[in-house]
Amino acid sequence: MSLIVQKYGGTSVANPERINAVADRVKRFVDKGHKVVVVVSAMSGETNKLLQFINDVNKKPDPRESDVVLSTGEQVTIGLTALAIQARGVKAKSYTGAQVKILTDNAHSKARIINIGTENIRKDLDNGYVLVIAGFQGADEQGNITTLGRGGSDTTAVAIAAALGADECQIYTDVNGIYTTDPRVVSNARKLKSITFEEMLEMASLGSKVLQIRSVEFAGKYKVNLRVLSSFEEDGEGTIITYEESHKMEDPIISGIAFNRDEAKVTVESIPDKPGIAYQILGPIAEQNIDVDMIIQNIGHDGLNDFTFTVNKTELDKTIEILEKMKDHLGAKTIIGDSNIAKLSLVGVGMKSHVGVASKMFRTLSEEGINISTISTSEIKISILIEEKSLDAAVQSLHKAFNLDQ
Ligand code: ADP
Ligand code: ASP
Ligand code: MG
Repeated sequence: MSLIVQKYGGTSVANPERINAVADRVKRFVDKGHKVVVVVSAMSGETNKLLQFINDVNKKPDPRESDVVLSTGEQVTIGLTALAIQARGVKAKSYTGAQVKILTDNAHSKARIINIGTENIRKDLDNGYVLVIAGFQGADEQGNITTLGRGGSDTTAVAIAAALGADECQIYTDVNGIYTTDPRVVSNARKLKSITFEEMLEMASLGSKVLQIRSVEFAGKYKVNLRVLSSFEEDGEGTIITYEESHKMEDPIISGIAFNRDEAKVTVESIPDKPGIAYQILGPIAEQNIDVDMIIQNIGHDGLNDFTFTVNKTELDKTIEILEKMKDHLGAKTIIGDSNIAKLSLVGVGMKSHVGVASKMFRTLSEEGINISTISTSEIKISILIEEKSLDAAVQSLHKAFNLDQ
């Protein structure tokens, strides 16, 4: 007997038929003697619809109230899933995040989990219930409802698995595992049997939304056995995330290509080349809880520098607004925002021991006539910014150039 946490994403609970399929699968696991905790997302499209409703009534919504609205999608699916499981003669009970006591900080819309109270749910598990827990939500110290950021149900599932010491956390979605790149963009992308935690962390942080980054961080911290698989197939091994460091000679140099269309580029032009300037620019942005990703300081000319970084597209206006206010104080010439960009990254632990990856990447893109505006690297990844309209072509040509389909 094992304790298994199963997370079902939006397409896996998209309608009553899909919810019935989830209940069938849960019953199969229960019949085999396993204890099962289910974490569900809202029905696919639902969270977007709620976001639109919020925007229709208020252009600058209070984050507390937004989270009250956004969390409702998951409340529908926990109830329906529990009912579907009960209809199969299996005891089931639904829980909102607050009912579980998923305690978060108060950063509405991107709250972080601080603690999970397991007392209640453990009692129910011991009494033979299947638990159906709402993903993507928690509550802060004051009891305000919070949400964990888009794709946050993955994080709920892994955090619950960690808190309960589950034997495995299974992420059911609409693809049957982790691929070399998004199969929606490259049709012959190849499914990976396993991926190292390190690589998965990079892939997720660089935009592969198959797993929310925080769920991968949680998995690594608590060594949760994590598997991604399809809810549309009866069986299948999916892809397992592994923790041992791999040093094999035959490791592929590149394991995958990740990309992200959600970022925008901000350039502060012609600022004085002096100590503290990066802090002066980024400090006020961090204070507003805006996440900054790539940061590049261009080579100076005439004692002046250009400073470039990326933020989420949804936070571009706010970022520009902050910088415009500080422009004179910084001594900057202009502030430029560009949201027509995409970030593309090659990821692979094999890069540590191979040279020439970057040059092959740049040659491939130059042959395609694709211009690179910004480059950043780490030990196991190379990231570039390109025009958003060239993204698909870039991913496809690199996938081929690095033989990822083989
Ligand atoms: P869910 O609603 O189940 O959480 P998501 O849409 O969040 O599902 O994640 C699954 C999607 O992730 C897939 O449909 C696929 O298009 C996308 N994806 C992006 N990169 C990858 C990758 N490397 N491997 C598999 N899927 C990927
Ligand atoms: N429903 C939320 C979203 O669409 C959370 C999730 O699906 O993981 O982002
Ligand atoms: Mg998801």
